[in-house]
Amino acid sequence: MIEPFRSATYIIQKLEEKGFEAYFVGGSVRDFLLKRPIHDVDIATSATPEEMKKLFSNTVDIGIAHGTILILHRGNGYEVTTFRAESEYIDFRRPEKVKFIRSLFEDLQRRDFTMNAIAMDKNGQMIDPFNGQQCIQEKMIQAVGNPDERFQEDALRMIRAMRFVSQLDFSLQPQTKNAIEKNADLLKHIAIERLFAEFTKLLNGANKKHAIELLFETGLYKFIPGFSESKEMFLDCKNLDINQLSENQMWLLFIYFSKTESAEKLLRAWKMPSKKIKYLTKALPILHTRLKNEWTTYSLYQATKAISIDVEVVNKTIKKETVANVEKDMNEIFSKMVIQQRDQMDVTGEDLMKWFNRTGGPWIKLLLNDIEKAIVMNKIPNEKAGIKGWIQTCNHQQGNDY
Ligand code: ATP
Ligand code: MG
Repeated sequence: MIEPFRSATYIIQKLEEKGFEAYFVGGSVRDFLLKRPIHDVDIATSATPEEMKKLFSNTVDIGIAHGTILILHRGNGYEVTTFRAESEYIDFRRPEKVKFIRSLFEDLQRRDFTMNAIAMDKNGQMIDPFNGQQCIQEKMIQAVGNPDERFQEDALRMIRAMRFVSQLDFSLQPQTKNAIEKNADLLKHIAIERLFAEFTKLLNGANKKHAIELLFETGLYKFIPGFSESKEMFLDCKNLDINQLSENQMWLLFIYFSKTESAEKLLRAWKMPSKKIKYLTKALPILHTRLKNEWTTYSLYQATKAISIDVEVVNKTIKKETVANVEKDMNEIFSKMVIQQRDQMDVTGEDLMKWFNRTGGPWIKLLLNDIEKAIVMNKIPNEKAGIKGWIQTCNHQQGNDY
């Protein structure tokens, strides 16, 4: 048994000693079979949360309504979930209440795809009633049971299918794909937060190009916030080498192609963190400019290094140029800049007030802008005496323009 399963075996053993069943399940088993890095180890058990809490001293209630507790052991936390059936689905969403059961088979049966419905016991033995291992071998995403019903129970599974296409570079089994086409409109019932979490994983995946193509082919895109009218965007993306793009670069490409009047409104509809919205809405006009013009040292400086890299990668992607050296080149350009940001200027508003013997006001901001630009453009050195001299030799002297 390899890590991180080995360290978690203690938990399974202890549950078994008390007569319960316990297995590794879900993503960790799938990733183990795929020889991919394993993130969190999930355990499923016949013990109820109350029974688990009696057995383990160090636990955290992280989702007790869904039967999940976190068991802390030797500095690690393990999510352990009681076998459950999700029988009553309302409104095409995951149910609020779940039924705890004692059967592993039923627990595996309520899982989304066969590759995610494999259990592994503490000796590494697979329990695979839905032939998930075969699907893994064939790199195929197949719903457990009737795909039509499964997507009607929880429509998020359709987007999860797409994110696994992207993340694992798998294909959709034809019936599963047909059922997505048929039930695509049910996606509108899904809370945006759940959608955003899966979509983010999709955008970070290795084969997002295939996933984006499938969003288009299945019509699922029509029910994704902000993209319902973006047929052109998906067609445009089809011809570009987008697998090399990061999550932010993908969003930038989307808002560029969506031709939306308000990128902010589109991104807000996704309930994205406001910091991310600010970043992307700052980057978009810079991308528009870059598509038409070359950078200048000052435009790069104003953009910031992070935005310059993202904009340049998207610019080159749209123009079908290689992006291999963008980061390296930008790092080099920025390392040669006299200053990288405003607070590195060797002058402050207070200095200016003293030099001009004037009180504060908007003139300070305007003058600082000019000085900043002159420093970045290498017209003056970044030191007080030089800055003062420069101001006095030009029109700035009286502060009249300000
Ligand atoms: P990741 O490596 O990204 O965490 P994962 O497969 O572990 O992938 P999770 O969202 O962590 O995905 O879910 C854990 C497991 O729970 C899945 O492998 C699957 O068995 C089950 N599952 C998660 N979401 C659903 C769902 N909407 N419907 C049915 N089963 C689900
Ligand atoms: Mg997981």
